[in-house]
Amino acid sequence: MAERGHAWRRGLAGALAAALLLGSIAAAHAQVIATRIWPARDYTRVTFESRKALDYSMFELKDPGRLVLDLNTDDADGLIAELQSRVAAADPYIETLRVGTNRPGVTRVVLDLKAQVRPQVFALKPIAEYGHRLVLDLYPLVPPDPLVALLELNGQLAAPASRKGAAGPSVARLATVVVDAGHGGEDPGARGRRGTREKDITLLIAKRLKALIDAEPGMRAVLTRDGDFYLPLQARVEKARAVKADLFVSVHADAFTRPHARGSSVFTLSQRPTSAAAAWLAKQENDSDLIGGVNLDTRDPYLKQVLVDLSQTATNDHSQKLAGAVLSELGQINTLHKAQVERAGFAVLKAPDVPSILVETAFISNPQEERRLQDEAYQDKMARAILSGIKRYFAKNPPRPQGPLALY
Ligand SMILES: [Zn+2]
Repeated sequence: MAERGHAWRRGLAGALAAALLLGSIAAAHAQVIATRIWPARDYTRVTFESRKALDYSMFELKDPGRLVLDLNTDDADGLIAELQSRVAAADPYIETLRVGTNRPGVTRVVLDLKAQVRPQVFALKPIAEYGHRLVLDLYPLVPPDPLVALLELNGQLAAPASRKGAAGPSVARLATVVVDAGHGGEDPGARGRRGTREKDITLLIAKRLKALIDAEPGMRAVLTRDGDFYLPLQARVEKARAVKADLFVSVHADAFTRPHARGSSVFTLSQRPTSAAAAWLAKQENDSDLIGGVNLDTRDPYLKQVLVDLSQTATNDHSQKLAGAVLSELGQINTLHKAQVERAGFAVLKAPDVPSILVETAFISNPQEERRLQDEAYQDKMARAILSGIKRYFAKNPPRPQGPLALY
């Protein structure tokens, strides 16, 4: 998987600089089998799925701003045309989308733009239930302030003030827990034998956990994603830092090649994995960026700074304490896969200043646990157990009045 897309990424960078992209439309026609549009808070993603890889060419026009994408398919009346009605009024970048036949075998998609964008086009190879995908991401030219954008879109800008009374006079500030639903969008994560997708389970449990945290006095939760869209691992880390999170909890559902592997696990970050299985799992989770598709070369440079290698000693110590508290609570409701907190090099745990854990709620690859993960009562139990662990951690390590571990 590692070689995926590198060649065209290099080509893409050069072509983007010239604001003109020319692919070749020489290959045989590919039939489009699905189209999707995701207006996410950071970018809008348009996906064309096909059985064979789609060839394309793209160029931009100014005054008014338009983006033109030519696809080597005859599908102008079908699934691509459906996109026209699926552009959300609230989409931050696309005013309207028009589809027509440009010439035989070539369908032209024109995006009338509301704002200047940085477009990225890339191809994804088939995985799980997805076929070949051609992905068009529209990023803002000027990235929005991540904190303001995140709070606005989560409807939380007003929330902290109105909840201050509930928090009581002894709590100076709300403890912020960032809850990260693993995977999403084009990255389905692991898959159970009955077809359950990890990305759906993680979102359901994350939403339950957020509701429980928000109901606690003095605490609030922020989700990294609240819908089915793809979010790069670094962006998740950056969001936690942007809201000055006190804690970061990433929710996953494990998979392993042996179907009888079972139980809950809690991980913290370490370059030295506690076992070969932990190293294997970290690699699976870190591959998310290859599966979900993101071109880091042209992302904002400040996102890369997140990965700057600061001393993580204090953070790691707190991550261990949090992980221990959550693990013992999980032990009350499920078999534990390992009796100790495990460690591995998960990219999503790399905020240098936010204690971070990754919870593998259960093995989605184990048919019995897959059934439990689908059960609402069990999802609720899982969320409550994680909350109990967080509260146990805060009881011994109260949120610092000046904010989280201040390494900013
Ligand atoms: Zn996962």
